[in-house]
Amino acid sequence: MPDCLFCEIVAGRVPSVIVGETEATLSFMDINPVNPGHVLTVPKRHSTDMWEMDAEAFAELAAAAHEVARRVRRVLRPEGVNMFMANGAAAGQTVFHAHVHTIPRWPGDGWIDPSWVAAPGDPDEIAAIGERLRAPR
Ligand code: AMP
Ligand code: ZN
Repeated sequence: MPDCLFCEIVAGRVPSVIVGETEATLSFMDINPVNPGHVLTVPKRHSTDMWEMDAEAFAELAAAAHEVARRVRRVLRPEGVNMFMANGAAAGQTVFHAHVHTIPRWPGDGWIDPSWVAAPGDPDEIAAIGERLRAPR
């Protein structure tokens, strides 16, 4: 995809610190890390977001990110790891080539917790939305 930063990284035309590669994915260091060891994993084939990926492509991306997270955990020994994917500007996506963040976590680090305000929901609304989302059996 022309003018796509992550396609340029996949093609090797924009430099990156690569930490892993599979047939379908590339993993490289984020240049604005939330914490040291923040890695991005992308599909090599351009997809704007997860909605442009089929289940198989998404599974390959997830497996590659899982392997990266295992390595981050083994090498950096964080106390936790966040896996994060933004789909759409409203979800915080800024680079419109699908990517999964792997972010090692330590208490009091650069990630602001909690990242959302959790309060008890309306039980009727929770049940009604659950009903709408339930897969037909
Ligand atoms: P998102 O906000 O989920 O779209 O995340 C985009 C991420 O891409 C951010 O964490 C940026 O720091 C990261 N990023 C932007 N440009 C580069 C680059 N050239 N190499 C590595 N990571 C980048
Ligand atoms: Zn792209």
